[in-house]
Amino acid sequence: MTPRRTSHVRPFLSVLSAVLVVLLAAACSSEFPRRYPDHTGSDGSASASPRSFGQKFEEDVELARTLSERFWQQRFEAAGRAYRPIQGFQAYSGEGGPACGEQPAVPENAFYCPLGHFVAYDEAWMRKLYENGGDGAVYVIIPHELGHAVQAQLMSDFGLNVQRELQADCYAGAALRGMIDSGSIEAEAGDDEELLANLAAAGDPTDEWLRPDAHGTPAQRQQAFAGGYDSGADAC
Ligand SMILES: [Zn+2]
Repeated sequence: MTPRRTSHVRPFLSVLSAVLVVLLAAACSSEFPRRYPDHTGSDGSASASPRSFGQKFEEDVELARTLSERFWQQRFEAAGRAYRPIQGFQAYSGEGGPACGEQPAVPENAFYCPLGHFVAYDEAWMRKLYENGGDGAVYVIIPHELGHAVQAQLMSDFGLNVQRELQADCYAGAALRGMIDSGSIEAEAGDDEELLANLAAAGDPTDEWLRPDAHGTPAQRQQAFAGGYDSGADAC
């Protein structure tokens, strides 16, 4: 993803959704670690697309946050509701993250805390994902966490954690599509592979759908994200 600058418009990758569908047909047979670990070397599809436009990690992080929130703000307004922006967006290091109620932050993670209505992320971990696997990491993780912030505002209720997580993936796909359609960012060649690789790396190794921390298998997470990307948030 790259911020759109009027001075040099690059070819718009309009086939992203078509490519997503094609890639989704490919089975993910590797054993993926949980959450969002560094997947370099464990997944041949992790591509490093060139970031040759002066983009920086910090810029992408801020863009992913502000554009996701803009997307939801507009959707809430269109529905006659007020969107409540998150109260904090905090980078942390290792064990030094903010607690969410009784729950301490853990290294190598990102999370939304409904108690303080904030998002926090382990910066060095996310930067490593970004540098190793491309900017898709940032555009999956942050919109996903903001998807949880939207769920909290809508007071969405779920029987299973995996449903909550897959809807957040779906919301993330919808938000990313909204960012691209609005012209704020452009998809680059290789972004689709990056996004899918990041989702796959964050999937559960097995279909543990009853577990309280279940996030969905790689294929389920990719399908949820692609569903939001292709069909919008209403389909989530
Ligand atoms: Zn989540």
